[in-house]
Amino acid sequence: MPERPPEIYVVPHTHWDREWYLPFAVYRRRLVALIDSLLVGLAKEPDLRFHLDGQMALVDDYLELRPDRLEALKQAATAGRVSLGPWYTLPDEHLVSGESLIRNLELGQRRAAELGIPMKVGYLPDQFGHTAQMPQLLRRAGIDVAVLWRGVPGAVGSTVFRWEALDGSAVDGVQMARGYGHAKDLELEPAALSRRLQEEVAAEAGANPTGPWLVMFGDDHTPVPVGLPDALAAADGRRPALVTSLADFTAARPAPGARWRGELHSAHHSFVLKGTLSARFPLKLRHAALERRLERYVEPAWTLSRRPWPERQLAYAWRQLILNSAHDSICGCSIDQVHEQAGARLERAERAADLLWRRLGGAGPELFNPSPFEREGIPALSTGPPRAAASVPVPISDAVLGARLELIADHGDEYTFDPPEGAAPAYHDLAAEVRPAAGLRVRTVVGRRPGEPLYRLRVGVSNHTGDQRLRLLIPADVSDGCWAGTAFGAVARAYGPPGAEAGAEYDLRTDPARVWVDAGGVTVMLAGPFEYELLDGAIAVTLLRCVGRLSGGELRNRPGHAGPGIATPGAQMHGEHSFEIGVLRHEGDWEEALVPRWAEVFAHPLVPAPAGPPGPGPAFDDPALMLSALRRVGGRAQMRVYECGTRPVPGSPPPFGIEDREVGL
Ligand SMILES: [Zn+2]
Repeated sequence: MPERPPEIYVVPHTHWDREWYLPFAVYRRRLVALIDSLLVGLAKEPDLRFHLDGQMALVDDYLELRPDRLEALKQAATAGRVSLGPWYTLPDEHLVSGESLIRNLELGQRRAAELGIPMKVGYLPDQFGHTAQMPQLLRRAGIDVAVLWRGVPGAVGSTVFRWEALDGSAVDGVQMARGYGHAKDLELEPAALSRRLQEEVAAEAGANPTGPWLVMFGDDHTPVPVGLPDALAAADGRRPALVTSLADFTAARPAPGARWRGELHSAHHSFVLKGTLSARFPLKLRHAALERRLERYVEPAWTLSRRPWPERQLAYAWRQLILNSAHDSICGCSIDQVHEQAGARLERAERAADLLWRRLGGAGPELFNPSPFEREGIPALSTGPPRAAASVPVPISDAVLGARLELIADHGDEYTFDPPEGAAPAYHDLAAEVRPAAGLRVRTVVGRRPGEPLYRLRVGVSNHTGDQRLRLLIPADVSDGCWAGTAFGAVARAYGPPGAEAGAEYDLRTDPARVWVDAGGVTVMLAGPFEYELLDGAIAVTLLRCVGRLSGGELRNRPGHAGPGIATPGAQMHGEHSFEIGVLRHEGDWEEALVPRWAEVFAHPLVPAPAGPPGPGPAFDDPALMLSALRRVGGRAQMRVYECGTRPVPGSPPPFGIEDREVGL
């Protein structure tokens, strides 16, 4: 130990994408070599520490092939020499459900606790922006600091800032403004190392004048360094530097300067790669459907049935979803083989969910209402006979007068939309059948159910073309901006032209929504995460973005590559796709119009109930109180709810607050 406290905290690490431009099996071969060499290094160098990327999946991937190294890893973890968790995988935060983010953190912390002590740092190194409620999720998991890179707006001028969730709960955010790989090429020769450490401090001095300073030594799939502790000991020591853990740095972090509330999705410092919101979109919708099935059907029905909890089967299905939630997987920005394997994982989990549903009893004549309020005469979270009349066909012009399809060439890649120079969109009025281009056919039918204010558009797309983006434009006055559903809440976003904010890449105004987006008295719904953009007079919803390569190096909307330039014919999304889109026209604002409740109805259909009827379950009077989970934990029934509204309601959690409640079931 140096006599003075360290000023520079050097954290050796590797960023481990489990699958990306190579398949899982190839990366895992490298992972086994890496952790083998780490265990050798830890034995040889007593002062070595290593940060295992904030995720436990890579530890499990290793132990599956090296079960004999469990004790060695446990020892290293117990001594604080390797980090464990807190995540299971590093999920994309816009494209998976809020509940899934919690389950990912739960699984990561549980696995970490089985091997040692979970790292209490919300490490979010590579996600393409951060969801607004993340500080609340971390706080609930006993974590008071996040270390992250992308998405921080220019208005945040300090390395450490107070990051507030929508409910006001906050963590300290530590910004790695130059990424997790900024010091990947540290030279270990003492004079060169001393010089470089001074440069690292100088580069951060504006945002962090007092220190201590964090130096991340590693990058994507980089190996364990040899000789780092000795090299630091031999450096000039003008500023004492130590090999440490990320937890040690965050314990000594500078006080927060700036304050920021809500999502971090700016391209100011780094790419946020918004084209990943729509790359391979049908795969994201299938992922979301399975999340909903587990969260809102299988788990609640098993809880209500009071039968022994199928812990292992549910854990299996959830693990497949959580593996697929990793940013390179759910973002659709990997090679075709990776997404084929993700599809196979989803299929296994879908079958596990089917089996669990059937084990509750064969489908009877009744329907299951998954919502915490009465629907179609069926009490909350209960079953009852079907009573609703069938959906009535409606002319398209009655539902969405002036709706159009927009088609534009996209010569970008899986990360970024990029129309060629001079490309102009072609518009087609929405009709029962439209052929916007050779090889592209769009068929639309509209229905409305008696008693519902919603129009339901079923849009079938037959796509045999490529390199273009197809969007549905729903007329709306967007001049006052919009509110969009997000994990555990809703966020307000302003309307503005693209390119308004200078940054690392072109400021595209496509944004993520979860189930709904609302502007000017029009709500557009889609059961999952989706990409939308506010245009002058319309809300545009991306149906397909068809591209043929992982990354391109000559794009106009982004300087340089975001990954290797590998062909991905699967990302052209050839084939038949079907989208159900809800449109609600209303008076008043989104809260007065009960938009979250209608979105709940839209995304959670009544389904044939298992013969052994579950229920009844808890019922909510507050229409803004949303159900996230109903499950058993340690034998007890636990319900997770959140308030999707800005106004306090007696008896409910505070605005945008999340709350766990025990229920007597
Ligand atoms: Zn990554």
